[in-house]
Amino acid sequence: MKAEIIAVGNEIVTGHTVNTNGSFIAKALQTIGVMTYYQSAVGDEQASIQEALELALRRSQLIVFTGGLGPTEDDLTKEAVCRYLKRPIKESVDCLLGMQNYFNQLGIEMTDNNKKQAAFPEGAYLLTNNHGTAPGCILKVEDCFIVLLPGPPKEMKPILEGEVLPYFQKQLKKGIYTLDIRLMGIGESALAEKIAPYLGEFTTVNVATYVGNYEVIARITGQGKTVKEAKEYAENMKNKLFSCLEDYIIGYNEDSLEESLLKLLQKYHYTIATVESCTGGLLAGTLINCSGVSAHYKEGFITYSNEAKEKYVGVRTETLCLYGAVSRQTAKEMAEGVKAKANAYIGLATTGIAGPEGGTPEKPVGLIYVGMAIGDETYVEELHLSGTRQEIREQTVKKTLHALFK
Ligand code: ATP
Ligand code: MG
Repeated sequence: MKAEIIAVGNEIVTGHTVNTNGSFIAKALQTIGVMTYYQSAVGDEQASIQEALELALRRSQLIVFTGGLGPTEDDLTKEAVCRYLKRPIKESVDCLLGMQNYFNQLGIEMTDNNKKQAAFPEGAYLLTNNHGTAPGCILKVEDCFIVLLPGPPKEMKPILEGEVLPYFQKQLKKGIYTLDIRLMGIGESALAEKIAPYLGEFTTVNVATYVGNYEVIARITGQGKTVKEAKEYAENMKNKLFSCLEDYIIGYNEDSLEESLLKLLQKYHYTIATVESCTGGLLAGTLINCSGVSAHYKEGFITYSNEAKEKYVGVRTETLCLYGAVSRQTAKEMAEGVKAKANAYIGLATTGIAGPEGGTPEKPVGLIYVGMAIGDETYVEELHLSGTRQEIREQTVKKTLHALFK
């Protein structure tokens, strides 16, 4: 089954809203084994919507529209699709009642143009929207399915995951289960080489590699008669790959690096404190992204100037004069200093040159030192990064968190 996604909205074609729905829907369909072959975006005009539909009907078996289901004049997707297919639009009593309930709960009066949203193409399968007023629907046209979904991501996502995916999983009569292993410290080609011996001639499971946000992902897809069977195939492969990838794994599926790190802190009951120069609070902010970190994160300092490094975490004046703020020695004293100050088990420090100015031949832009005082030992890592100021700061945070895994 070839899928095609059409985003509708002037704000999308003019570039004012990024079409994140397109990416989300394609990835979600992939989890049930449906590949997207085409994506397009059209403005809020019936003619454009119909042209896109005409083309899609010639080449795809699953066409997903997102956007233009709302109550206002410019929301035209349903009307355009029905006109093109010559399907009458009928009001659904159930849907009208559902919407009435939704408005009652909010204490708002339902207007006439809201009622337009309770009208659907004849024969359509309705998709309830619990997070807004625009319900979606699925239409069958000969061998092709057309799905209409609302535009706001917080309405679209629950309908897609809660209703659309299960609907097509049933149609396909097969189970698919995907599982991501997230890795750092290994490149994509090295990863492909490492996993090659485990792949063999399986028809029930396949592994693909992707490059993510400073990470590499090994995506395992199991296929079986049921989702349960598919999950078993995928989990078996995960266990096989674990032995050769163990040193690089930072988490699974949607796990973030900081959440995986929090699990380690929880497991060993460790506390942590941070002192940052070039990352200026980004490291602390990233750790504090995780709920539950309060039992482990003690305190953090931003010591951008030399004076602050001395004043708050006790870096010695001689060290700064002799080696400079961006040095192995300063990173070591910062990490040890914050660890002692906060009375934490782990002290983390960053100091470096994020650029774009300020580099010298000896200390170029992208030179970063990461200090880690852990228990009785201190380690310092020297990094050579490239990119914009923001990219260098983000990579420093990722690499610092990753360094703690080793
Ligand atoms: P409603 O008008 O009831 O909110 P709708 O289905 O008519 O729902 P649109 O009017 O098309 O939706 O879009 C509403 C908002 O949803 C847009 O302003 C935009 O912020 C967001 N949105 C729409 N389409 C997309 C998309 N493809 N990707 C990301 N966000 C989107
Ligand atoms: Mg709208």
